[in-house]
Amino acid sequence: MERSAAGSGAGEPEQQALFGWADTEPERPARGSFRDSPAARRMLDVREVYAEPAALDSPRGQQIMARLPGVRVVEVPRHWGIPSLHGNGGNVERWVRVKTETLVLGVKQRLVTRPNGRSADWIAPGPSNGCAMSCAYCYVPRRKGYANPITLFTNIEAIVAHVRRHVRAQGPKPEPNQCDPHAWVYDVGENGDCSVDALVCDNTADLVAAFRGLPTAKASFATKFVNPDLLALDPQGRTRVRFSVMPPDDARLLDIRTSPVPERIAAAADFLDAGYEVHFNLSPVVLRPGWERDWAELLVHLDDVLPARVKEQAAAEVIMLTHNQALHEVNLGWHPRAEEVLWQPDIQETKRSQNGALNVRYALEVKQQALIRLRRLLAEHAPWLRIRYAF
Ligand code: SF4
Repeated sequence: MERSAAGSGAGEPEQQALFGWADTEPERPARGSFRDSPAARRMLDVREVYAEPAALDSPRGQQIMARLPGVRVVEVPRHWGIPSLHGNGGNVERWVRVKTETLVLGVKQRLVTRPNGRSADWIAPGPSNGCAMSCAYCYVPRRKGYANPITLFTNIEAIVAHVRRHVRAQGPKPEPNQCDPHAWVYDVGENGDCSVDALVCDNTADLVAAFRGLPTAKASFATKFVNPDLLALDPQGRTRVRFSVMPPDDARLLDIRTSPVPERIAAAADFLDAGYEVHFNLSPVVLRPGWERDWAELLVHLDDVLPARVKEQAAAEVIMLTHNQALHEVNLGWHPRAEEVLWQPDIQETKRSQNGALNVRYALEVKQQALIRLRRLLAEHAPWLRIRYAF
């Protein structure tokens, strides 16, 4: 059943429970079959594909289309700027429908690996752009707008070959850093969610397989979606999955269409046992009345439910909310209640980015004080959770 993201009585979107909460038994089909389950189709039920001809002709494009029999295909000259798919016009019901039912296939033209140094050493060229979820603070739609369905890049062989060459050119990592003590870490999911992409495409599987054979490197991606099919990919420790967590009250308001936070946490041990390194993104940290109490509760929950083997290898990134004036204005049109917590000019400052966008972040003093308090909460409730970096 597709629940309207604007359908909770007061006309406000709420997190769509894809699997049910922790006190209910989550849907767990046999391995390898989750993508065909009703839960998967609530996230992605592709009815139409917009595709560049070269993408359609590629082996990956043909494989994707073979799994979508009868789906309407519209050929487009390029995957950017497709009228009716991209932009901010329309309300969230339309966006959710586009994100659920539409897929774009394209060829990634520019394969560039960029240095990062915070979450990862490098940002690899992503296998996709766009997302089926609709988090209110998300920066991924910054170029395509909120009605941006997933674009899958079908030249995955070229992406993998590029990454392999880049890894080999680095040689062994000379010294430990905050990203990893031994391996060069490559973020492979900067502009989407690899777990959702894997519902319709093997790009995520191909990247996991590639890093399995790269002993000096490690793939890394953040996710807000639990896709049990990833458990079968045998990463052999060379892929780090970072489950993003925040207090469930914040997630219900802000993380539209994602897996519920307790489910993401409950999946950690399964992913570790399947061969992933499992980290957590404490993100975004949204400052609002009661935030410390709710983060404390979340950390207590992590401490209560995670087994020792997860805790022993876990680390976390802490990412304070950053926002954007244009996004604020878009959100006022469909989800004003989110803006009550995201937009707080009294404690935020603006900064114009290189591309001219007016970004918003907590004022330095406010942020520093909040990080001190969050570190105290971690020391008290989850002392095993090492902070890799706080931003
Ligand atoms: S899951 Fe990630 S990429 Fe998708 S909407 Fe949320 S923040 Fe954006």
